[in-house]
Amino acid sequence: MNDVLICSECHSKNRVQRVPGGQVPVCARCHAALPWLHDGSDASFASDIQAGVPVLVDFWAPWCGPCRVMGPVLEEIAREQAGKVRVVKINVDENPQSAARFQVRSIPTLLIFRDGEAVDSVIGAVQKSVLLQKISAASGARLS
Ligand SMILES: [Zn+2]
Repeated sequence: MNDVLICSECHSKNRVQRVPGGQVPVCARCHAALPWLHDGSDASFASDIQAGVPVLVDFWAPWCGPCRVMGPVLEEIAREQAGKVRVVKINVDENPQSAARFQVRSIPTLLIFRDGEAVDSVIGAVQKSVLLQKISAASGARLS
């Protein structure tokens, strides 16, 4: 499960394989926290939602208009909140099991996981500030 994460600080590409529990990926060159955006799947879902920080899971599909609105918002959150959140995108067409397991009936549905447990959810396109509040509540710390 290789992710290529681009550092917001020095723009170097980092190939990230496995992040030890409780840690977040950092840039090999400048050691800044990396925007942690990951394309998840049914096969890897259980590990996709495990992280030392809240995990925001986006159930989406390419044909869904509101999902396309949320895409850049999620990328922004991953970049601006690097080190404080992991963003996982689940394409529901390719990964129906995860969507069914969490009873995703309309997309986008965003679930927030903490320590592998779903702690909050948002259905439909929402403002970035709404998501930040929920991530903040899940992490127990304020995000700037
Ligand atoms: Zn860097």
